[in-house]
Amino acid sequence: MIANYHTHTFRCGHAVGTDREYVENAIKSGIKILGFSDHAPYTFEDGHISCWRIPKEKEEDYVNSITALKEEYKNDIEIHLGYEMEYYPKEFNDMYNYVKNLKAEYLILGQHNLGETEKEFHPTPMPCDDINKLNKYTELITEAIKTEKFLYVAHPDIFRFTGKKEIFYNALLKIANTAKEYNMPLEINFLGIRDNRHYPSATFFEACRDSGCKVIFGADAHDPKDLVRKEDIEKAEKIVKDYNLNLVETLKI
Ligand SMILES: [Zn+2]
Ligand SMILES: [Zn+2]
Repeated sequence: MIANYHTHTFRCGHAVGTDREYVENAIKSGIKILGFSDHAPYTFEDGHISCWRIPKEKEEDYVNSITALKEEYKNDIEIHLGYEMEYYPKEFNDMYNYVKNLKAEYLILGQHNLGETEKEFHPTPMPCDDINKLNKYTELITEAIKTEKFLYVAHPDIFRFTGKKEIFYNALLKIANTAKEYNMPLEINFLGIRDNRHYPSATFFEACRDSGCKVIFGADAHDPKDLVRKEDIEKAEKIVKDYNLNLVETLKI
């Protein structure tokens, strides 16, 4: 694994370690490009405060810390400052401008919620057999891809559909076909592999294979130790081989 663009920090409230430890571990495991992509801070119009994003009072510290490490380690590793962010159609432009002001070099899409904003709360990893909600999810992801503001889609199969496999496959194929059309990779998420979650799933790999879209590895590190466990890489490489997927290793930022 040469590059990882999916790394969190303690600021989001559910990750551990210092920023430096992530950098040191990445170097130790042979990573040449490390992207920090903590959950984007944002103040919603309705005053809702998210419980999983960088809080406003820590946003400056995030920017300063990653910028300083980028300079300090420039001879050892290429570091980028990014954010993982949902696509909420009504607030997207404001959210985008907000993180651009916070020196975002890139964004990855992580659709953890299904509402029009975050106040309308339906976490996508929750078991769900509602086809309308799956359609809504698919629509959000494909619309987000079409904005061309994201580097790639993190865990595109985070939606935990408990209905018929065929229906889920068709939804994921729609996402994968759009990704292919817009030349955007879809992520094979290592957090899911590490924790034995419902993603990444075989249905997702089949959709990637059948569409011919690109896939990329993402550590989704929430602990410096997650950069990068050999067993995760081996499992992900086996998936790529078994499904004959079109893996890209590095992306242009
Ligand atoms: Zn995520
Ligand atoms: Zn993440």
